[in-house]
Amino acid sequence: AIQEFDRVVDSVCPFCGVGCQTKVAVKDNKIVQVDGRNGPANENRLCVKGRFGFDYAMSPERLTKPLIRRDDAPKAGDIDLRNVDPLTVFREATWEEALERATSGLKKILKEDGGQALAGFGSAKGSNEEAYLFQKFVRQGFGTNNIDHCTRLCHASSVAALMEGVGSGAVSAPFMDAMKAECVIIIGSRPTTNHPVAATYFKQAVKKGLKLVIMDPRKQDLMRHATHSLQFKPGSDVAMLNALLHVIVEEKLYDEQYIQANVSGFEALKKKVKDFSPEAMAPVCGIDASVLREVARLYAKSERSMIFWGMGLSQHTHGTDNSRCLIALALITGHVGRPGTGLHPLRGQNNVQGASDAGLIPMYYPDYKSVENVDIRSQYENFWGQTLDPKKGLTVVEIIDAIHADEIKGMYIMGENPAMSDPDQIHARAALAKLDHLVVQDIFMTETAWHADVILPASAHAEKLGTYTNTNRQVQIGRPALDLPGEARQDLDLIIELARRMGLDWNYKHVSEVYTEMAEVMPSLNHISWERIEREESVIYPADGPDVPGNEIVFTSGFPTSDGRGRIVPADLTPPAEVPDEQYPLVLTTGRMLEHWHTGAMTRRAGVLNAIEPQGIAAMNPYEIERQGLHIGDMIEVETRRGTVEAILRADREVADGMVFMPFCFNESPANRLTNPMLDPYGKIPEFKYCAARVQPL
Ligand code: SF4
Repeated sequence: AIQEFDRVVDSVCPFCGVGCQTKVAVKDNKIVQVDGRNGPANENRLCVKGRFGFDYAMSPERLTKPLIRRDDAPKAGDIDLRNVDPLTVFREATWEEALERATSGLKKILKEDGGQALAGFGSAKGSNEEAYLFQKFVRQGFGTNNIDHCTRLCHASSVAALMEGVGSGAVSAPFMDAMKAECVIIIGSRPTTNHPVAATYFKQAVKKGLKLVIMDPRKQDLMRHATHSLQFKPGSDVAMLNALLHVIVEEKLYDEQYIQANVSGFEALKKKVKDFSPEAMAPVCGIDASVLREVARLYAKSERSMIFWGMGLSQHTHGTDNSRCLIALALITGHVGRPGTGLHPLRGQNNVQGASDAGLIPMYYPDYKSVENVDIRSQYENFWGQTLDPKKGLTVVEIIDAIHADEIKGMYIMGENPAMSDPDQIHARAALAKLDHLVVQDIFMTETAWHADVILPASAHAEKLGTYTNTNRQVQIGRPALDLPGEARQDLDLIIELARRMGLDWNYKHVSEVYTEMAEVMPSLNHISWERIEREESVIYPADGPDVPGNEIVFTSGFPTSDGRGRIVPADLTPPAEVPDEQYPLVLTTGRMLEHWHTGAMTRRAGVLNAIEPQGIAAMNPYEIERQGLHIGDMIEVETRRGTVEAILRADREVADGMVFMPFCFNESPANRLTNPMLDPYGKIPEFKYCAARVQPL
């Protein structure tokens, strides 16, 4: 029970896309305890991050004054800055000087090189209102669509496939619907680690009779609850999924009536999967043909089946093809549009769904409206009162490459940490160091902030008011529990201030005004006013009226595509971009861990979480460790064609033979120095889940 506090604030968790509602207890302007509330996605539950990860907001490492790079300071580049005092590289400045320096540098590039020489990275950790204003700032103030955020690194390929197949990038049903399903497939996702409260629903559903199928190259906790655990060979997703489709077609387990009424592309799929028999694919994916047949039958014959997936599926050069296979499974069996059925890409960050919906992406305005559609663009030009860039912008990795090519010279980065999260980190950091002008708005001296010319100290989640959209499409309100530290300012105010100084006529007085403007251009938010969210705490979109609950299930009668039909796009086998060879015989895969969140900027400054997982690790199967002549607990060097990283070797039976797993949250063992920046051609997502590596003792 919460005791000894000055106040308790109702808010939402700042970490993952589950969107747990929280009660934040505050004493003397410090958070002393966080408990779960009875929110629709958590019913009082919280995981270790939500419950114990709050103290990062009160860290003495918070940025509290604006900083300007000293004239004689070198750009950071790829140097280890852990023991460098920031004040030897930056000097403290007044807000007036910092804001003036920030905007004059951006304006100079705009004048001399044009808007295409500028770009912005917004944040999936910020609110919907911040995301909306940030993309508006870049589109209106810079005149470019070079705007992106970390969705490019997580579910961009899933969204590309979903937009193409079913006309919407969001989930078709909330994860709690697993409780109504007969069969659930979870592929390329580790919910107990990355969506822990959602995992509790999956376990509960199993107790009620759900048949759970887990497919992942790494073993995981949930496999103990599964009827089928398919530990397939990394990178062989399409082979395995096409084999399931083959069985469903061959044994006529599809829903003919549903296909006739709602689906196009079935004939092409039939033709494509003909050659993908389970017997032919078993050696490719490493799963017995009989198991593939059983799983296909289980999924297709169940009355209600659902599919969940995560970054294990999406972060491949064939990530879009992987999702296309899942969409085909749902469409040919009619397992979509009814309770207990559907397609659910489990979203990562607490607001990656909302930030994407709000237009923080280079090819779409809010609500996924194409920037290249003349009618839509002219609507926005009328609404925002200015001519807009007619071409889609560059994505995260493309922006880094464009800096190296001298095409992009200035950036504004808010709350993202590409110096840790981007693939081929040496290349990415060299790009940040090469920029003529970089403005970073953040709460900590992140690895990215070290490259900045101007650093604007901003607001933590616990200090701001705003809305956040979780993986279920539930729009929820986060409320401020703490005062801002020192001279730090609200992120929203900083975007507005920079916009005014760039010459934009912006005059927002309250966050609710931003929400209202955003909702005006986003049909998905029809009937969901700011007041309604404040009153109801959580509203799922789309809603049919101001007084009726939003629709948990979508695609109940067709799809929001041009012809109302779901579209199957058959997928071919494409190998990963870089496969093991004699020189680099292992497969490196990266991911998250339960206690740390993404690049670790927040959780490594959270006392309890960092005490549990304090050091950078590389994990391998004990047999593989022995085979490589290594010793558990030793410092090893992991090497790929892009660099080397030192890490402590951990034995982990969940990691398959021939693989190394590294979390990407440790700046002393930065896994992304090693990863391959090759992109999926459709979603433009890099191949974080597969590259060739070797290990050796230090
Ligand atoms: Fe926060 Fe996600 Fe954990 Fe819930 S499951 S407490 S939203 S990190």
